[in-house]
Amino acid sequence: MHTDILAAAGLTDADLTGGTLVVTSPIDGAEVARVAETRPEDMSGIIARSQAAFREWRKLPAPRRGELVRLLGEELRAAKAELGAVVTLEAGKIGSEGLGEVQEMIDICDFAVGLSRQLYGLTIASERPGHRMSETWHPLGPTGVITAFNFPVAVWSWNTALALVCGNPVIWKPSEKTPLTALATQKIMARAMARFGDDAPEGLMQVVIGDAAVGEALVMSKDVPVLSATGSTRMGSIVGPKVAARWGRPILELGGNNAMIVTPSADLDMAVRAIVFSAVGTAGQRCTSLRRLIAHDSIREELVARLAKAYASLPVGDPRQGGTLIGPLIDHAARDAMLAQLEKARAEGGTVHGGSAVTEGVPQGGAYVAPALVEMPAQTDTVRTETFAPILYVMGYDRLEDAIAMQNDVPQGLSSCIFTLNMREADLFLSAVGSDCGIANVNIGPSGAEIGGAFGGEKETGGGRESGSDAWKGYMRRQTSTVNYSAELPLAQGVRFDF
Ligand code: NAD
Repeated sequence: MHTDILAAAGLTDADLTGGTLVVTSPIDGAEVARVAETRPEDMSGIIARSQAAFREWRKLPAPRRGELVRLLGEELRAAKAELGAVVTLEAGKIGSEGLGEVQEMIDICDFAVGLSRQLYGLTIASERPGHRMSETWHPLGPTGVITAFNFPVAVWSWNTALALVCGNPVIWKPSEKTPLTALATQKIMARAMARFGDDAPEGLMQVVIGDAAVGEALVMSKDVPVLSATGSTRMGSIVGPKVAARWGRPILELGGNNAMIVTPSADLDMAVRAIVFSAVGTAGQRCTSLRRLIAHDSIREELVARLAKAYASLPVGDPRQGGTLIGPLIDHAARDAMLAQLEKARAEGGTVHGGSAVTEGVPQGGAYVAPALVEMPAQTDTVRTETFAPILYVMGYDRLEDAIAMQNDVPQGLSSCIFTLNMREADLFLSAVGSDCGIANVNIGPSGAEIGGAFGGEKETGGGRESGSDAWKGYMRRQTSTVNYSAELPLAQGVRFDF
C-alpha cells in the first residue's frame, strides 16, 4: 500500500532502498524506506555546484526566473493529491492537512511569480543639486534551507519560491524524519526545470539528506550566504551564532508557545471552534499550535466545560481515514515527552483532563494520544516550555493588562490572538503595549497563517521572516547608488575639502 503512494509520487526503488537512513511512518511505526544519505565530504562539491548555478541564474531577468516558479506551481497543482498523500504517510497529517500543505506551496508560487516583477527599490531625494539616489536589490547567492518534520514541504516552498525569483539557488536539507516528501518534491521541481529549458542551470535546486552533520556543512560554509533554519529553539541556538560568526545571514524560524486571550465579551461559540482547531490540529505539532489559553475568570469555567465536552468527541486515529481529526505524534519519543510534561504540570498543581496514550482503535505501532486540557493555578515553568504535542494549558485572569503580561511572559514570541467583541481590548492587544509576537490575531486562532503575510516571531522564535509581505528582502542584498549628473562635486553635510 505504501509502495503505491510512493510510486504515485514518482519515487522509485532507487530512491527508497539501499540507503542507511531508515524512514518509518508515524501512522504505524513501520519501515517505509531506506534512503541514501549525503556524505558530509560531498557537501563542498554540492555547494560549489550551487555557486556555479548562482553565477548563471543571477543573470536572468527576475520575471524570467518567475516563469520557473510559475511552472513549479503548475506541476504542484498536478501532483497535489500524490504529494499530499506522502505528507500524510511520512508526517502523519490527516488528509485535508496534507493537501492543505501542498496548497500552501501552490499559493507561495503564485505570490512569487507576481513578486518577480515587483522586486522594488526606492528612489531617494538627494540633498545635493544634480544628484540622484536610488536603491537596487540584487541576488545574494546560494540559500541553505534546513526544515523541520512538521511542515515537511511547505516551509521549503516559502523559502525556495522567493529565493528563486530573487536569483538565488537553493540547497535543501529536510528533516531526517521526512526525507521522502523532499525527494518527491525534488521530482516535481525537476519536471518544472525540464519544461523551463536550458536557462535553469544544473545545481539550481539540490536536496541533501541527513541529520545535523549534513546541515552543519551549510551552516558553516561562507559560500552559503543565506541560511534559513526552521526547527527547535535548541537547534536555532546552535545554528544562529555559527552563521552570524561567519557573517552569513540567518533566517531563524524556531519554537512557539502561542496563547489566546478570551475576554468576557468574546463570542464563545467561535472561540471554542478556534481553540479546538488550533490546539489539537496536526496533533498539536504546529509551530503556531495553541498552547496557552488565558481566559477571563468570569467565563473560564464555562469555557473549560465546553472544551472538555468537545475534546471528548474528537476522533483520534489513522490519518488516512476520513473523519479522523487527530493523527499520530511523529514518534514515541514525542509521546513520552508529552506524558512527562503532563506529570510535571500535575506536580505544579495542574488538573489534567485527557492526555493519555490511545492504543485502541488506532493502528498499532503509532504514537497516538488523547489531547490534554490542563487547568493551571499559574503560568509555571512547564507552561513556559514548548512541548510539541496537543497540550493546552488554561489560566485565568481578571484585568486585561495582566492577561497581556502573562501572554508575553514566555521565552518564545511567535503567534498570539485575542477573542473579544470590544474594540478597545482588540486594539490594545495589537498596540505597542500589547502582544509581543510576530503574529497577533483578533477573533481567529493563532495557527493557519496565509502566505500573503510575513511569517515569523520574536525572542527565542528567532526573529526571522519568511513567506509574504517584504520577506523577500531577506534573500537579497540592497545596493544604494548615488549618481551625479551635474558638473560639480559637492560633498554631503556641507563638508569642504578644497585643494
Ligand atoms: P529540530 O530542531 O529537531 O530539527 C529541525 C531541523 O534542524 C532538522 O532538519 C534537523 O536535522 C536540523 N538540525 C538540528 N540540529 C542542527 C544543527 N546543529 N545544525 C544543522 N541542522 C540541525 O526540530 P523538529 O523536531 O524537526 O521540529 C519541531 C520544532 O520546529 C518545534 O520547535 C517547532 O515549533 C519548530 N518549527 C518552527 C516553525 C516556525 O516557522 N517558527 C515552523 C515549523 C516548526
